[in-house]
Amino acid sequence: MNFDLREFNSFPIDLSLESEADPLEGAVEGVSFRDVVKMRINLQKVKEEYYCHGLVSAQIEVECSRCLEMFKTELATEMECVIKTGEGKPVLSSGVMEECIYLKQNEHVVDLTDVVRQALTLALPLKPVCREECRGLCPNCGVNLNEEECDCSEDEIDERWEGLRNLLE
Ligand SMILES: [Zn+2]
Ligand SMILES: [Zn+2]
Repeated sequence: MNFDLREFNSFPIDLSLESEADPLEGAVEGVSFRDVVKMRINLQKVKEEYYCHGLVSAQIEVECSRCLEMFKTELATEMECVIKTGEGKPVLSSGVMEECIYLKQNEHVVDLTDVVRQALTLALPLKPVCREECRGLCPNCGVNLNEEECDCSEDEIDERWEGLRNLLE
């Protein structure tokens, strides 16, 4: 997830990047990446700094929090960072900007892997669901209710709440 700043003569500039997802594999727990990671980035230059802002999207496979089946989905989110060359604190930083990439003198290649990883991690839903109407697993016998009905009666499940109900009455 690199680009070389020497490739560009004028700013701002819009970039489209595609990168193998390999560096991200294992970076986000329970998620496996499929296909490439795509980035659409706007790059601006202010003195010795660059402001990088854009969108990142990735095809992923993740476990449904209800039925525990793996399903494919797209993760797409905004990302931003400041790329700083030279010394001192970043002038562009607003304080909320978390990501800053420092380049040493004579260093021109920007590696966005960490920025992308962080953006995608934050974009991942806490409880992914394969589809809104996913019925999940039966809390009693554990069958996948999307695939089969089970014989557990409502009563059996209710029994577990009996003690609570008595308390309330
Ligand atoms: Zn599901
Ligand atoms: Zn059941």
